[in-house]
Amino acid sequence: MELCIKNKPKILITLFFTACIACKPSIQTKITDNRGCTKMEKIHKSEEEWQKELDPFVFKVTRQKGTEPAFTGKYYKHKEKGIYLCICCGQPLFSSATKYDSGSGWPSFWAPLDNNSLELEEDRSYGMIRTEVKCARCDAHLGHVFEDGPKPTGLRYCINSVALKFQAEQ
Ligand SMILES: [Zn+2]
Repeated sequence: MELCIKNKPKILITLFFTACIACKPSIQTKITDNRGCTKMEKIHKSEEEWQKELDPFVFKVTRQKGTEPAFTGKYYKHKEKGIYLCICCGQPLFSSATKYDSGSGWPSFWAPLDNNSLELEEDRSYGMIRTEVKCARCDAHLGHVFEDGPKPTGLRYCINSVALKFQAEQ
């Protein structure tokens, strides 16, 4: 529910209340929540346009749901203070304040900067049921979210370094 009501006018809270409360408490519900509640303005570009703009590996991960090899990403052990933006569209996604060492081999966060910046979607590829994390603005594939993260959320946003662009705190 908190996914929807954050920073929303009261009328929207009322409108979305029923839909949001109906789908507590699994991650899947947040998928529905985000789809129903996100008001992010979308960026629409063709695959060809993205391919022209992005490095080949960035394109593969963000536009074709690829995964960088574990322990290889440039932000895996990155500890500077700042925020992480979407590499494709510059949308602020995560803060160094919620980054932690999960031991997974990928940058891990226990919360996004703003739930409305992300879209979650069920991913049944490779014989697993996972929850895909996408940029709500440009639909870039970022990684997955799991329910084995630390407090207070218990969530682990497992994100590819190549999907991110770091902006140091000033
Ligand atoms: Zn984006």
